[in-house]
Amino acid sequence: MPKYVYEFAEGSKDLKDLLGGKGANLAEMTNLGLPVPPGFTITTETCRYFLAHDAMPEGLDAEVDAKLSALERAMGKRLGQPDDPLLVSVRSGAKFSMPGMMETVLNIGLNDDSVHGLAAQSGDERFAWDSYRRLIQMFGKTVQGIGGESFDDAFEEVKRQKGVTDDLQLDAADHRKLVDLFKGIVAEHTGREFPCDPREQMDLAVRAVFGSWNAPRAVLYRRQERIPVDLGTAVNVCAMVFGNMGMDSGTGVAFTRDPASGRQGVYGDYLQNAQGEDVVAGIRNTVPLAELERLDPASHRELLSIMEKLETHYRDLCDIEFTIERGKLWMLQTRVGKRTAAAAFCIADQLVDQGMITLDEAVSRVTGDQLAQLMFPRFADDAQGHLLGTGMNASPGAAVGKVVFDSETVVARSREGEDVILCRRETNPDDLEGMLSAAGILTSRGGKTSHAAVVARGMGKTCVCGAEELDIDVKNRRITAPGGEVVEEGDVISIDGTSGCVYLGEVPVVASPVVRYFEGEIDPAAGEAGDLVRAVDRLMRHADAARRLRVRANADNAQDAARARRMGAEGIGLCRTEHMFLGDRRRLVERLVLAGTDAEQREALEGLLPLQRDDFAEAFAAMDGLPVTVRLLDPPLHEFLPDFTELSVRVALAESRGEDPEDDRRLLKAVTRLHEQNPMMGLRGVRLGLLVPGLFTMQVRAIAQAAAQLLSEGRRPRPEVMIPLVATVQELEIIREESAGVVREVAEEYGVELDFPIGTMIELPRAALTAGQIAESAAFFSFGTNDLTQTAWGFSRDDVEASFFSAYLEKGVFGVSPFESLDVEGVGRLIDIAVEEGRAARPGIKLGVCGEHGGDPRSVHFFHRAGLDYVSCSPFRVPVARLEAGRAAARG
Ligand code: PEP
Ligand code: MG
Repeated sequence: MPKYVYEFAEGSKDLKDLLGGKGANLAEMTNLGLPVPPGFTITTETCRYFLAHDAMPEGLDAEVDAKLSALERAMGKRLGQPDDPLLVSVRSGAKFSMPGMMETVLNIGLNDDSVHGLAAQSGDERFAWDSYRRLIQMFGKTVQGIGGESFDDAFEEVKRQKGVTDDLQLDAADHRKLVDLFKGIVAEHTGREFPCDPREQMDLAVRAVFGSWNAPRAVLYRRQERIPVDLGTAVNVCAMVFGNMGMDSGTGVAFTRDPASGRQGVYGDYLQNAQGEDVVAGIRNTVPLAELERLDPASHRELLSIMEKLETHYRDLCDIEFTIERGKLWMLQTRVGKRTAAAAFCIADQLVDQGMITLDEAVSRVTGDQLAQLMFPRFADDAQGHLLGTGMNASPGAAVGKVVFDSETVVARSREGEDVILCRRETNPDDLEGMLSAAGILTSRGGKTSHAAVVARGMGKTCVCGAEELDIDVKNRRITAPGGEVVEEGDVISIDGTSGCVYLGEVPVVASPVVRYFEGEIDPAAGEAGDLVRAVDRLMRHADAARRLRVRANADNAQDAARARRMGAEGIGLCRTEHMFLGDRRRLVERLVLAGTDAEQREALEGLLPLQRDDFAEAFAAMDGLPVTVRLLDPPLHEFLPDFTELSVRVALAESRGEDPEDDRRLLKAVTRLHEQNPMMGLRGVRLGLLVPGLFTMQVRAIAQAAAQLLSEGRRPRPEVMIPLVATVQELEIIREESAGVVREVAEEYGVELDFPIGTMIELPRAALTAGQIAESAAFFSFGTNDLTQTAWGFSRDDVEASFFSAYLEKGVFGVSPFESLDVEGVGRLIDIAVEEGRAARPGIKLGVCGEHGGDPRSVHFFHRAGLDYVSCSPFRVPVARLEAGRAAARG
C-alpha cells in the first residue's frame, strides 16, 4: 500500500515530486537540525487520488491518526486540548512554487473551549481571541467558500463603532465580539455552525487545500509558468508558532543574497507582532532585516548563521520564512529562491568564484528566457523625466504605459494593443491576469517580498512596489503625487524597476548593456563592464565551448547578417529571397507573370538577375567564410501582384472614364488566374520552380555569379541553395539537375571552381516520412518547422493564433502554442524519423532547423537531443540559442 503521510524527519529535499517543494525542504531543514516546528506532509499522490475520485484514499485516515499522535507526543499536548491546545497550520505546497495561488489555513484546533486554554497558556486574552477570529475567517473563506468581503465588512464595522483605524487597537473583547459575528456569518452562509471538532477542522482544511489546486488563479498561473496540470499539491500540517504574541515576536522573509541584483549579503523584511501571511500580503509595512539586529540580537545572530548554513548546503540563493515567538526563532520555509534575470547570472558567476559550483552547473542555472529579458531596453541613465515619486525597485526593466487601476481594464486595453501600467495599492492573486497583460506594475504598499514583487519577478515583468508617497486611489481612479500632481486613468507614466523611480509621461529608453556587449560595444574585460556583463560573458563563453549545436541566423539582408554575426551567428541558415521581389521590383514580377512569349519572360528574368546578384553578394560578403543558405522563392506569385479588389476598382474606374486600361486588364486577368482558395497549400515553393520556367534557374545563376565574383576578389563565399516545400524526391531532382547545370555554366563563364551544396527544406509531413529517398538527392535538410507544424496539425499558421488558440489554451488542449514551442510528440516525431532515415541514406548529411523554433529555448533542447547540426533563428535570438545549446550539452 502506498505511504500517504511523511513526518518531516522522513523526507528530504530530493522528494519534491512526492512532498512538494515546501514539504521536501521542511524535511531537509529538520534533518539539518534547524529549528523547524514539527509536523508531517500528506503527499501529492494523495491529492491526485482525491482530485480523481473526489474522495480520500483508503488508509489515509489511519496514517494521519498515527502521525498526528506522534506530533502530539512531541509537543506534549493534543490538537485542540481545552486547557493547552496544540494548534496546527495546514498549508499547500506543490512541486513548483506557486506563490499565493493555493490555500492555507492557520490556527486549526481552536474552538469555544480551547480558546480559553490558549489565553491561559499565553497569558494573553487578546491574542487568543484574535487567533480564533482569524481561524474562522480563513476557514470560512478557504474551506467554506464564503466571500472575504462579509468578514472584512464586519471587521471594518467593529473598528468604526470603536472609532479606531488600526487592527492593533482592538482588544480582547472586540475580537471576542468578532468571533461571534464571524460564526454568525458562517452559519448564515453554510446553514450549519462553525465546526468545533479540531480533527474535523483539520480534515476539511486538507480537502480544501487539495481542491485549491484547481482554483482558477492556480490554473492560470500554471499555464503561464508551464507547470504541468496533473502534479497536484502536497499538504503540510505543522505545529503553529506565533509571531503575534507581542513585540518580542514577529515574522519575516529573507534571502541569502539580493534577489534583484544578485549582490552578496543577507537581505529581507521583518514585521514585529505579526502572523503568517502579513508580510507577503504587504498589509502593514515591514522593516529591513538589519533592524532585527537591534530588536532581537540573539535571534538575528542565529538567523544569519542558519542562512549561511542553508546557502552552503543548497549551494544557491535560498529564500526563507521565519517566525520569532517570544524570542525563539523558528524556520517555517526555505527554498532555492526566485531571482531576477540579472541576479541569476551574477549569482551563478559568484558561486563559481566561491568554489561552490562548477561552470557547467552555472550554465545550467541560467536560462535563455532570462538572457532574452536582459536584452530588453532600459531607461537612459541621463534620461530626464518628471519624477512623480519613488518606490522599491522590485523587478527591473523599463515600462511605459497608460495608467490603469484594475486588472479587467488592463486585460481589455492590452488586447487592443495599448501598453498599460497596472496601478494598485497592493496586488493579490486575483490580479494575476492583469499583471500578465500589463507592461509594468506599480503599487503603493508592500515591500520587495510583497505579492506584487514576488510575482512580477517570477514573470520578468517590470515592477515598482511600495511607492508610498504616491496616493493610488483606485476608487476614484487617480494617483496623487507628493508634489500635488494628479495622474488620471489613461495618462502615460514610465516606471523604472531598476531604480524604483516613477515618472510622468514617456521617458526614452536605451539599449541594454548586455546587447551592447553582444554588439561589441562593451569590452567585458574593461573596468566599466560591470558585474552583469562580466557574468554573461563568462557563462556565454562556457556555453559556446560546451555546445554541440551550431547556431546560425535567419537574415535576408546584409545589415541583419552583420548584426547576426556580431551576436555570434556562425552563418545564415535561412536567407528568404521574397523581400528581393518587393518594392520597385514588383514591376519586374508583374512583367514575368504577364509575359506572353518566351522572349518577354526571359527579359523580365534578366531584369531581376543583377538585382538578386547584388543582394546575394552583399549577404555573402557580410558572412565571408561562413555558410549562407539561400532559399529559392517560396510564396505564391500572387503575393507580389496588386490586390484583386483594388485592381478591379482601378479597371472599372478607368473604363467608366472611357479609357482603355489594357495593362491593368491583363494584370487583372492574371490575378484572377492565380487566385487560390488556400494559397499556403497552392502554387508555392518548389511547385513554382517547376511551373514558372526560368525562375529558379535565374535565382541559382544570381547566387553562382555573386559567389564567382567574390571568389575572384579573394573572398570566401560559402553559398548553399535550398529548395522549399518539397514533398517528394522527384520535385527536388528536377530542380537540382537544372541548378547544377547553371552552376557549371557560371563556373566556366567566370573561370572559377564553384561547388556548393544543394539541399532541401523538410517542411511537409510527406517529406519527413520519405526522408530516406529525399536524402539521396539532398546535400542537406533544413527543417522548416513553421510549415511542418502547420501541415502536421492542419492549422493555418496565419489564422489560428488569432482565431481560436486562446480557447485551445484555455481548454488545456495544449499549454503553449505549437508555433512558439515545438510540439515534440507530433512534429518532433516527424523530425526524428527524417533524421534517422536521412542519415541512414546519406551518412554525414547536414541537418538544421530554420523555423521560428530555432530560437525557442525548449525547442533548442529537443533539437540537441534529435542530433541536428545547427539551429537558425532571428539575429536577436542567436545569443539565446547559443546559451540553450550550451545548457543542453552541459546537461549531458
Ligand atoms: C518554415 O516553414 O519553417 C520556414 C522557415 O519557412 P517560412 O517560414 O518562410 O515558410
Ligand atoms: Mg516554410
